[in-house]
This record gives sequence, C-alpha cells and structure tokens, in this order.
Amino acid sequence: MSPIVGIDLGTTNSLIGVMEAGFPILLADSAGERLTPSVVHFPVQGGPIVGRTAARMRVLEPESTIYSVKRFIGRRAGEESGDVGYKLSGQPGAPVRIRVRDGELAPEEISALVLAKLRADAERALECEVTRAVITVPAYFNDAQRNATKLAGELAGFTVERIVNEPTAAALAYGLDKLRDKSRVAVFDLGGGTFDISILELNQGLFQVLSTNGNTRLGGDDIDTAIANFLSGKIAVATLCETSGTHHLAAEFSEASPAIAARLREAAVDAKHQLSTAEFTTIELPFLAGDRSFSHRFTREELEKLARPVVERTRAHCLRALSDAKLRPDELDEIILVGGVTRMPLVRRYVAEIFGRVPNISQNPDEAVALGATIQAGILSGAVQNVILLDITPLSLGIETFGGLMNVIIPRNSTIPIKAGEMFTNALAGQRAMKISVLQGEREMAKDNWRLGEFELEFEPAPKSQARVGVQFEIDANGILHVLARDTKTGIEKKVEMSSAVDVSDEAVEKMLEDSLEHAFEDVNERIFTEAKLKSSEMLPAVRNALNLVGAQLDESERALIVERVTEVEQAVADGAAQPLKRANAALDEATQRLATLLIERAMQTKG
Ligand code: AMP
Repeated sequence: MSPIVGIDLGTTNSLIGVMEAGFPILLADSAGERLTPSVVHFPVQGGPIVGRTAARMRVLEPESTIYSVKRFIGRRAGEESGDVGYKLSGQPGAPVRIRVRDGELAPEEISALVLAKLRADAERALECEVTRAVITVPAYFNDAQRNATKLAGELAGFTVERIVNEPTAAALAYGLDKLRDKSRVAVFDLGGGTFDISILELNQGLFQVLSTNGNTRLGGDDIDTAIANFLSGKIAVATLCETSGTHHLAAEFSEASPAIAARLREAAVDAKHQLSTAEFTTIELPFLAGDRSFSHRFTREELEKLARPVVERTRAHCLRALSDAKLRPDELDEIILVGGVTRMPLVRRYVAEIFGRVPNISQNPDEAVALGATIQAGILSGAVQNVILLDITPLSLGIETFGGLMNVIIPRNSTIPIKAGEMFTNALAGQRAMKISVLQGEREMAKDNWRLGEFELEFEPAPKSQARVGVQFEIDANGILHVLARDTKTGIEKKVEMSSAVDVSDEAVEKMLEDSLEHAFEDVNERIFTEAKLKSSEMLPAVRNALNLVGAQLDESERALIVERVTEVEQAVADGAAQPLKRANAALDEATQRLATLLIERAMQTKG
C-alpha cells in the first residue's frame, strides 16, 4: 500500500516527509535539499521547471517565474493587489488567473506543479509509488482556499487524505513527547506570506485548539518589500548625487525594470537571512544598470528598523487569540516558533515581550509544519497512535433570517469536525420557497457578514410560520462546509458544498474581527431594532383587526389609549431608534391586554 506523505505547501518553500520506523523523516530531492522553493519557471521551450532552479530564474525572467502563488490560491481577482513580478488576470470577482507567457493558469495548477515535484522526489527517495498525502494550510484559509489546495493535490496525482491547519501540525511536531499533559501552547507562525497564531491545549494525548487568529497577508515578504524599497531609495540618492555620467540608475530602477526590482529583492532576502546571525552584511549589486554597481553596508539595526512595523502587526492578533482563549499570557506553558521569519532575533524578542516568556526554539522553524503533517499522515496510516487533532472554526457561520439578521448556526471557535442545525419557518403565508443565504462573520446584521453562497429550497405552500425547514451545517475534518436544507414535511432536501464562493478580500478577513468589536454597540442596537420592528409589523395589523372586530366593546378612553400607543409605535419605527421602539411595543402590548381577551372570548363564542 502507498505510504501517506505529509506536505507543508508553503508560500516560499515546501517540504515533504514520511514516517519511517516510527519517526517523521523529511525527504530530500536529488540534490540533497529538503526545502523546495515553491517557485515554478516557464521557459520559452520545454516543460515547467520547479524549485531551486526556478527560484534563480526569478531574477532573470520575473514575468515567467511564479512565486508566492499561495497568496492567490482560491482567491478572486481584485482581492489581491499582489506586488509580484508576474501578471495576474481574471475579471473582478472571478477566480484569479496567472499570466504565463501566452497562456493563463489557475494558482492551483501552479501549486500542483510544486506538489508533483515533491511527489516525484518522494518516489525517488522511497523507491515506491506515492499517491496519498496530508497537506497543511494556514488556519485562516477559507473554504475556497482549502478546496483549491485539495484540488492542487489531486492535480498532482494525490488522494488528499486530510487538510491540516499549519499551527496544529507544528504543535504535533513539538508536542508529542516534550509537553506535559494539560500544557497550553501558543504557536506563533510567521512565514513568507502568512501569519498565524493559535492557542492549543494538550489533553491526554489530544490537542485541542482553544483559539486561532492571523492574517493571510503578513509575513517575510513584507519585510523583503521594506528592504527593497529602502535599497531603491539609497540608489535614488546615490544617483542624484552623481554629477557625471549619463545613466540614471534611479529611473531605471522602476516598475518598468522588473529585472532590477527582482535583483534588489533577492539581495534583500539574502541580507535578511544573514542578519539573523550576523550584525552586519554588505549588499553588493554589481552592474545593476549598465555599468553601474551598487554597494551598501547593511546593519541589523537598519534591518530591525525596517522590519519592526511588520512584526508589530502580529501583536493585535496575539492579544485577540489570548482573549478568545480566555487566557492571560502567564497561563501559557510554552510558546512555539514556526516559519522562517522567526529566526530573526527581533521576532524572538518581540514574541518574548508579548507573551512575557522566552519562546521555545528547539525545533527548526522551517520544518516543524512538515514534520507535524508527516506525523498526522502517520496517525492516519496507523503508524502513530494516541494523538487526535481537533481544529476550530475561525469565524462564525450561519444563515440570514427575517429582517436581514445573522442567525449563527456554528459559533466561532467551535471544534471541528462539527455538525449543527436549526429549524426555520416561512415568514409569509403561501410562500413556496426559502432562500438559504449562508453567511460567515461576527456581525449582527447579515449585510455586514460575508455571503458564502445562497440557494433556494422549494416546499409546499403553508400558512405563515407553518413550514418546517431544517438547516444543517457540517464542517468536515478538512474545514470544508457542507450545508443541508430539508423540508421536514415532504423530505425534499438540497445539499450544497460551500467551496468556491467566498467573495472577500484578505483585508476584510482582518477587518471582520476588528469591526465586530468596534461596532458591537451599534450592531446590538440594530439587531434589537430589527427584532422590535418585526414584532411591530406583526402587532400593528393584528391590533387594527381586533379593534374592528371587538373595539366597540371597549371604553372610549381605552380605545383612545390604544390608538395613542399605535401612533407611538409607528413613530418609533419611523425614528429608527431601537430602545424607544422596544418600549413602545411593550406599552402597546400592555394597552391591548383587554382587547386580546375580548378577541379570544369572541373566538370561543364563534366556535361554540
Ligand atoms: P516559510 O514560509 O516558513 O518557509 O518562511 C519563509 C520566510 O522565512 C521567508 O520570508 C524567508 O525569507 C524567511 N526566512 C528564512 N530563513 C530566514 C532566516 N535565517 N532569517 C530570517 N528570515 C528567514
């Protein structure tokens, strides 16, 4: 039987591993390298080149060398600005496509090429066919991104046995035998393009994710951009200071010169890596433009000044994850570092400052996720026992109900896999179908959340509030949402997989959590108002109807009071103020007590 491999499909680098004799082993390619750059180059002639050779082509042929494609996987055009050297295409709202020479490819097709290389390397190393894999994704990946990753695996010839969150995999790599029971761990993962922070608890060999937070557009790439911009500024100054010569280096370093930009970026990355151990380095760029060269002595202090704003952006996410887990930093037992950027001394100091303890650096931060994926693969194939992984939902999921309200079915931070359901009814008499609008987010009103998709379920017309439609949400072990709606009377049902309809930008992901806090007060008010308005819209016609039928049996003063209360409700609806409307509804309720009794008596008499 084919072994199950574990794969860390990274923004910058990817790795593959397999369990051997009970140990997770990362496999090397034919050059003996375990880290494969997630880069694909498309030469003028011949098939695509993947990995280290491709990464080198990034400088020479940036437009046909695709890197950081993970930023675009499962995303829509317009969601990603993409400061990349190659071209993107696709109509706004349609899936992102990548222009390569005369053609176009989907991001998952490019990732598939990286995965196919890993698969070939593994087959060569293991001398057997490899067709089953566990692949990791950032905890913040939405359904569309998870599905696209799974598709990439399938295109590469794998059966994808499990999609696992990266921080959870990393905790496995660190945690199997090193941690005590009940330990609480923060996994701080700062990679090339994504940042994840997760808080986990180890419970009798069972990892439970207490909370997770992050940003799919924050990472080492941002530091590289800051350094490259800094260098280009230095070049501009150097050129301005030139008094002779006809070359204008600064002008040549521009968007129009991707080759120079790519060289600057490569120099930036190199310098960043060196400064993790050295105090200074010299950046040399010979013949950058024509016969002009550039040289700069770059210090760790300079780097830290440029990198600090990027690193500081992790703080809010960490604090949010802690508060979601209802923990103080001193209640954590361990801070684990994951992702190449956490090799930077600045990052380690910053993490220590946020959490008030020195992070654990016992594992290689570049390999922890791949090792964890491999261990997870081992668990699935039976090679490792007694560890079960539980992941959680990063944002609440629900459907839109009457009045445009968000009705949460699976709350944020629920452990997955999970199944939850609720019964809904028809708002109108004779209604023939119910629209199921699936939402994700933390806001009270449907319009402020993301619409993952919608579909209609038809049912037999029924009097108001008589139809019974069960809606069930199921998030599978891969974090993919399946929605089922069933008319309980006829058994007619519809099942939809929310796979490719997430139509939101990454900035919006981050904003969602901030907004839900910032607008908490207005949101609650809006919900109260909407609910109160729904109540008024039911009460007002009922009261008018009752006045017609039995109003004559009331005293003049009683009738006048009801009319006055009705006017107050109408006025409060028009004013749009939540609390006054709630109060007006309650006052009308009270004023119509006797009216309601009379109505019931009349109904009894009619019956009798
Ligand atoms: P990952 O996504 O985990 O593979 O991390 C890749 C990121 O880590 C890239 O931004 C790399 O430039 C960065 N990185 C790798 N090694 C180092 C290092 N020694 N010092 C600083 N950053 C590094």
